[in-house]
Amino acid sequence: MNISSSNITDNHPDIDRELSPLDAAGAVRWAVERHGTRLALALSLGIEDTLLIDLLAEAARAAQVRPRVFTLDTGRLPAESYELLERLRSRYALDIEVFVPAAPALEALYRHKGPLSFFNSIEDRKECCAIRKVEPLGRALRDASAWMVGLRRAQGPTRVAIERFVTDEEHGGILKISPLAHFSDEEMWALAKARDVLVHPLHGRGYPSIGCAPCTRAVAPGEPSRAGRWWWEDPEHKECGIHGKGGR
Ligand code: SF4
Repeated sequence: MNISSSNITDNHPDIDRELSPLDAAGAVRWAVERHGTRLALALSLGIEDTLLIDLLAEAARAAQVRPRVFTLDTGRLPAESYELLERLRSRYALDIEVFVPAAPALEALYRHKGPLSFFNSIEDRKECCAIRKVEPLGRALRDASAWMVGLRRAQGPTRVAIERFVTDEEHGGILKISPLAHFSDEEMWALAKARDVLVHPLHGRGYPSIGCAPCTRAVAPGEPSRAGRWWWEDPEHKECGIHGKGGR
C-alpha cells in the first residue's frame, strides 16, 4: 500500500461521485488507505461515532496504519461520556487524543459572563461553543488532510444537505468525510447492532443526540433527534459551529 503522509490532494468536487458505489465500510477503508495517519476521526461519542470507530479500527488493522482519533472535552460533558471514552480506549488499540478549551479564553468567559452564559442568547451560546469546541477543533485538525464525522441527513433540518465527501474550507480545504450521511436511524442502528459496537448509556434514556450536559436533554417519542440539543432555540440554529456551514 502506498500512503503518502504529505501533500495529499483530492479533486474534492469529483470524489463524491467517484466513490458513490462504496458503502459506509468501503468509504472508511478508502479514507484510511488514502489519508493514513493524516486522517482524523472526530468522536462526539454518539452511536454514529462508536460505529465509525469500529469501522475505522477494522480498516486500520487491514491497512496496517494508525489514523488519528480525537474528541473534544468541553469540560461540560456528562459523566457517561467519560465512562464511554474509557471503554473505547480499552476496546480499540487506537490512541484517542483529547483536546480541551484554551484556559485564558475560558477563564475570561467565566469572569465576564459566568458559568451559564449559554442560556442568555444565541450569541452567548455560540461564544461558549466557539471557546469549548470550535477553537480546540482547529488545533485538532491542524495537521490533518482529512477528517471523518458522524453527520447524517436524518439528524435534522440543519443537516439535510450533508454529502459524504466535501471540501472543508473552514479548515484549510481538507476533505471532510461523513460515511453515514445517507443512513436512516433504522439503518444505522441495524449496522451498529450487527457489529456489536459500544453504545452511549444516554441513548437508552431518551437521548438520541449526545452533547454537553447542560445543553442536552432527553426527547419525547416522535420528536426530532436533535430536539434535545439547545432546546430553547429554534431548530435552524441547532449547530455549535464546528459543522456550521456544512463543511463546504
Ligand atoms: Fe457551551 Fe453548551 Fe456549547 Fe457545550 S454545548 S460548548 S456547554 S454552549
